[in-house]
Amino acid sequence: MIQRMNEKQILIVEDEPSLAEVTGLYLKRAGFQVQFAYDGKQAMAILEKQIPDFVIMDIMLPEIDGISLTRWLRDRSDVPIIMVTARREEVDRISGLEMGADDYVVKPFSPQELVSRVRAVLRRMGRDQAEAESERALSFESISIDPRTRVVTVKESVVDLTAKEFDMLYLLARHPKQVFTRDQLLERVWGGAEYIDPGTVTVHVRRLREKIETDPSKPKHLLTVWGVGYKFEA
Ligand code: CA
Repeated sequence: MIQRMNEKQILIVEDEPSLAEVTGLYLKRAGFQVQFAYDGKQAMAILEKQIPDFVIMDIMLPEIDGISLTRWLRDRSDVPIIMVTARREEVDRISGLEMGADDYVVKPFSPQELVSRVRAVLRRMGRDQAEAESERALSFESISIDPRTRVVTVKESVVDLTAKEFDMLYLLARHPKQVFTRDQLLERVWGGAEYIDPGTVTVHVRRLREKIETDPSKPKHLLTVWGVGYKFEA
C-alpha cells in the first residue's frame, strides 16, 4: 500500500480483534494509516523497528501489559499515546502512575469518540509546536533577535527597541524575504486595532531602520517593496 505523505500512521495495540477492527475502520475513514498489534510483545517488536505517529494502547494485554509497554515506549519516544482501559477504576491507577499517556478512553467507547480524542491530542501537539516555534531566537550575520528576553543585537551591541518595534522586526525577520502589507503588519503587530493610523507602520519602519541599519537611507535589512509593503532580508 502506498502511504501518502500527509497520512499519519497509528498503531493500535489491542488484543480483542473485533474491537481493533472497528477502531481501525473509523481511524482509516478519518484519514489515518492503521497498523495493528494484538499483544504486547508484537507491539514492542513493531515499535522497535519504527515509531508511528500515534499509539492507541490497551492496558490489559497478553505478554506485556499496556502500562509497562507505555513506560518502555516513553523512554524512547514522545509519540502521543491514548490508553484504553477496561474499567473506570483503572484510570486513577493510571494517572497515579504518571506513565506518560496523553489521554485515555474507557471501554466501551464509541469509535467516533476515540477519533475525536486522537484529533484533539494532535491539535494540542501542533499548538505546542507552533508555540515553541514562535519563541524561536533568530540569528543572522549581523542581527540577532531573542523573543524570550526581547533583546536585539546589531553587530553585537544591544539595540533598544520599543515593544511594537520589536514585534514588527521579529515578525518580519521570522519570515525572511516574505512581503508583508501594511494591513498585515497592523493586524499582526497591533492586533488590527481600528484606531491605529496606517501611517504608524511607516513611522515604525523608519525608526527601526534608524536603530538597526548602518545607513538608514539605504536599508539592507528592512526593505520597502514599492506598492506592496515591507520585507526583511538577512
Ligand atoms: Ca485487552
